[in-house]
Amino acid sequence: MVNEIYELGDQPPIGSVPRLMHAQTIRQDRYGEPSVAIQHEIVPVPEIGPDEVLVYVMASSVNYNNIWAALGTPVDIVAQHQRANPDIDYHIGGSDASGIVYAVGSDVAWPKVGDRVVVHSGWWNVDDPYILSGGDPMCAPSARVWGYDINWGGFAQYCKVQSHMCMPMADHLSWEQAAVSTLDGATAYRMLLGWPPHTVLENDVVLVWGGAGGLGCYAIQIVKNMGGIPIAVVSDEDRGEYCMKLGALGYINRKNYTHWGVMPDWKDDEAYPVWLKGARDFGRAIWDILGDRRSPRIVFEHPGEATMPTSVFVCDTAGMVVICAGTTGYNAVSDLRYLWTRQKRIQGSHCANDEQAVAFNDMVIAGQIEPCIGGVFSFDETAKAHQMMYEGVSPPGKMAILVNAV
Ligand code: NAP
Repeated sequence: MVNEIYELGDQPPIGSVPRLMHAQTIRQDRYGEPSVAIQHEIVPVPEIGPDEVLVYVMASSVNYNNIWAALGTPVDIVAQHQRANPDIDYHIGGSDASGIVYAVGSDVAWPKVGDRVVVHSGWWNVDDPYILSGGDPMCAPSARVWGYDINWGGFAQYCKVQSHMCMPMADHLSWEQAAVSTLDGATAYRMLLGWPPHTVLENDVVLVWGGAGGLGCYAIQIVKNMGGIPIAVVSDEDRGEYCMKLGALGYINRKNYTHWGVMPDWKDDEAYPVWLKGARDFGRAIWDILGDRRSPRIVFEHPGEATMPTSVFVCDTAGMVVICAGTTGYNAVSDLRYLWTRQKRIQGSHCANDEQAVAFNDMVIAGQIEPCIGGVFSFDETAKAHQMMYEGVSPPGKMAILVNAV
């Protein structure tokens, strides 16, 4: 006999699925700061389709996309869900999860009920013609990010995923350690190894913005594992030391510079030279760390508006600026003279395909990636942890949320 609902951590028999569950939801009428927008509710456990899997979530992690969801901008995510299902008027975020498989659809060959899995967040229609003709699934018209574009994410007792998103969980990790790395780690993997010929090679210098943040802490470790030389950018010395422990050769404190944001007009004889001096000084700091006048072959970007002009400027001739976000804004102007004469590449990158997520997970299983947990929060601290990230006061590394692993 299955209860109607179970308390957090009161685990039902494997394979028994109740009707209701605890969830951290976002609704349109409370869009705004995460502390208000994200609330604990009881909602129905989602039904799964033939290729889907229901995972009993043990832990999840805080990612910036649930802040965008909470704010209701740049996308009204609940309205987006309602175009697919008008009856659903809430969003359950969470693009990471570790947990136990509780139900599988009729077409699912793997995983099986009872398996311990982690979940990556690349979602697409498996019969998308673009994918069937050999295209990269993350570039397919149907590609979405689970826990953001797609509902039923990891901030609930059960999450609903496609079977291809499930991957084996590393035996040596706790639930919370296993839950934190997949979205940011797999995204970093695609950025650093998914865009040939600009994949990290032995001795390549890679500049990592936000080295102590979620993406950055895995980027540093991936670069180091590939034999490259990661140099981190941070906002204080403690965060810099954190990056050094992860393998960065050195770090630059961005607070020592003031030339951030949209660059001035190149025709402005007063402001432009000031900007150029700031960018040159920043570039010289990279050379000082290296003890050599080498520039980064890859610049790992995500702040966007605040940093993109500098990223394009300091990137090496024939190098790549690879970017997956615009956290500080989207108006990323560059002085194009440095782009075309030095033949640099700007590459957008988004989430990860199965191959890249599995390759990153294999590094985790092999013990090559430290999970980098900066804080562990209870289920009812989900909003608080997101608010900390929104205010820029999160600890270095990743914040884990305990769901059923109370
Ligand atoms: P995070 O853990 O908050 O880290 C971001 C880091 O950026 C912070 O630690 C901060 O480090 C740095 N930062 C903040 N303001 C900055 C500024 N004005 N200039 C330079 N650096 C600044 O977030 P995250 O998980 O790394 O994610 C970063 C962004 O990537 C978010 O917008 C997220 O949505 C996006 N993302 C996209 C994908 C995708 O698939 N497209 C996947 C994952 C994440 P310091 O203060 O120490 O410099």
